[in-house]
Amino acid sequence: MLPDSNKKTVLDPFGTSVVADYERLYMEFGIEPFKPFLSMVPNPSLYMRRGIVFGHRDFDRISGAMRKREEFAVLSGIKPTGEFHLGTLMTAKEIIYFQQQGAQTFYCIADIEAYEDNKIPFKKSEKIAADNVADLLALGLDPKRAYIYRQSKEIRVKDLAIIFGRAVTLATMKAIYGERHIGLYLSALIQAGDILLPQLEDFGGPKPTVIPVGVDQDPHIRFTRDLAQIFHRKYNFILPSSTYHKLMKGLDGSPKMSKRQMNYFTLHDKPETIAERISNAFTGGRATIKEQRELGGVPEICPVYEICLFHFVEDDNEIIKAYNDCKTGKLLCGEHKKQTIDAVLKFVMEHQREKMKFIDKAREILQVE
Ligand code: SF4
Repeated sequence: MLPDSNKKTVLDPFGTSVVADYERLYMEFGIEPFKPFLSMVPNPSLYMRRGIVFGHRDFDRISGAMRKREEFAVLSGIKPTGEFHLGTLMTAKEIIYFQQQGAQTFYCIADIEAYEDNKIPFKKSEKIAADNVADLLALGLDPKRAYIYRQSKEIRVKDLAIIFGRAVTLATMKAIYGERHIGLYLSALIQAGDILLPQLEDFGGPKPTVIPVGVDQDPHIRFTRDLAQIFHRKYNFILPSSTYHKLMKGLDGSPKMSKRQMNYFTLHDKPETIAERISNAFTGGRATIKEQRELGGVPEICPVYEICLFHFVEDDNEIIKAYNDCKTGKLLCGEHKKQTIDAVLKFVMEHQREKMKFIDKAREILQVE
């Protein structure tokens, strides 16, 4: 079902967020458009260039630090609930990008949130986390220049959460996150601790910090920015900055990738599973080849185009060509799906091989068996 564009958008980091119109988020949530910043970023990422990163809060601090080569940090993370998929891949690429631009880098394994939100026992999330970190290293994160940690083992994060808890009422939590069990409110406080961790004296003190996330995570950013202000006197925190990327659709065209609907694939699925899911994907194509030749397709609603745009076509000219060829009916869906399957399988096979080299290193970093 398509989202109702008249409804107010709900951004829920613990539930399902469906965004019908990204432009409306500027008005509804005070998110700033990213586009005006593009020319100020020395070496914009693929996501920035293609408008996938569409919004931000206080990114001027980060672009300024990048231009002047001053100190800044990036923090992102993963909830260890399963294998890397195209959504978590995006966050990983963003953190690697900022590391390559000189950011002090923090990657958090949100195992407390996985426990509170997904009931994943810590013993199980340990294994998943080691696998996720191996993915991250295989994608190019330099572990020598990064602090990778599990929330449950990072006492400074937990201490911050305890301190922040003093300034937050139940009414505030309900207003931000809705009626939820206390464990989720606790995990939100822990996340605030994660976001502000890079600014503690142990890591060199206050500094501009960017949190690149999907826009559904904005409530955590707003909450943490409020806390940073409340505790400014004690810690001298600089309000954290954020960038927001668009959320990927499911391969069936529904607004979200979902395990239950099997409308996505992971980087560790079998090649035949991946090929089958892409072959069966919804497209923006027409009912017949003749119609498509005459009228062209609709790449704007097409998940096949989307996975190419987000992940599998590096060259900007190539993606522009695919868009134009679709629009003019030159490119047909069968042919495009085949090209996409080839590109995805090439990437996935190489990635799986590369990842094997990093499993031991990932276990060592997280100190798990
Ligand atoms: S040609 Fe490609 S981009 Fe266009 S609708 Fe078909 S699959 Fe989607």
